[in-house]
Amino acid sequence: MELARVWAFTFAWDLGRYLVAAGALFAVVWVFARPRFEPRLVGKRWASAKDIRREIRYSLSTAVIFSLVGAGVRLGGRAGVFRFEESVLARGVAYEAFATAALVVLHDAYFYWTHRAMHHPRLFRLVHRAHHLSHDPSPWAAYAFGPIEAVIQAAYVPLVLLVLPADELALFLFLAFMIVRNVIGHAGAEMFSRGFVRGPLAFLSTTTTHHALHHRRADVNYGLYFPWWDRWMGTTHPAYEATFEEVTRAKT
Ligand SMILES: [Zn+2]
Ligand SMILES: [Zn+2]
Repeated sequence: MELARVWAFTFAWDLGRYLVAAGALFAVVWVFARPRFEPRLVGKRWASAKDIRREIRYSLSTAVIFSLVGAGVRLGGRAGVFRFEESVLARGVAYEAFATAALVVLHDAYFYWTHRAMHHPRLFRLVHRAHHLSHDPSPWAAYAFGPIEAVIQAAYVPLVLLVLPADELALFLFLAFMIVRNVIGHAGAEMFSRGFVRGPLAFLSTTTTHHALHHRRADVNYGLYFPWWDRWMGTTHPAYEATFEEVTRAKT
């Protein structure tokens, strides 16, 4: 049956994306280059094996939810509900680049505001607590969401595709960017080079320290890819830059 075939395809991509990205970063930071990254641990401790097992369990359940929504997007695209095309580059390379960038920038806004809403005391326990069980996360926390949060995170794609036309390639590039940035945010040890937060490219990216501080103090640093919304809304951790400089001070 078509639904099962489309779901299996989508699940393989969603699970594969998570396993490859989280596994690769885990292998580098936690296994092969562990002594090099040890001084850069933002929380001064590595996540425990128990934390990692829980992060993987929640992430597997999220991959199932993401893939059900993703299968709905593909079938809904065929039915004309979503502006999603399975053929690629029908609108040309320039549109492909625009659509990919728009997916990223709009997702950054969607993530900031939904994430901030999830920290409302009435919603936190029910929706977002599972993610914050990781006080010092590992890359395996990338998809560590409770089921309601997983649905909220997954809903971005069908919602944006109601208005923004995109195809399989733009979605693939956006999701690749999403998972790479997501695992870097949960790396535990700072991945960015010394001086980055005071350098000319600082406005283009949050860092591992940025999101690690959110896991340690939940009323700041809600942003995902860019530091923009936290700056505009005054929710950047007051010691963000100082902490980044402290953890990157050691010679690695
Ligand atoms: Zn997180
Ligand atoms: Zn949070």
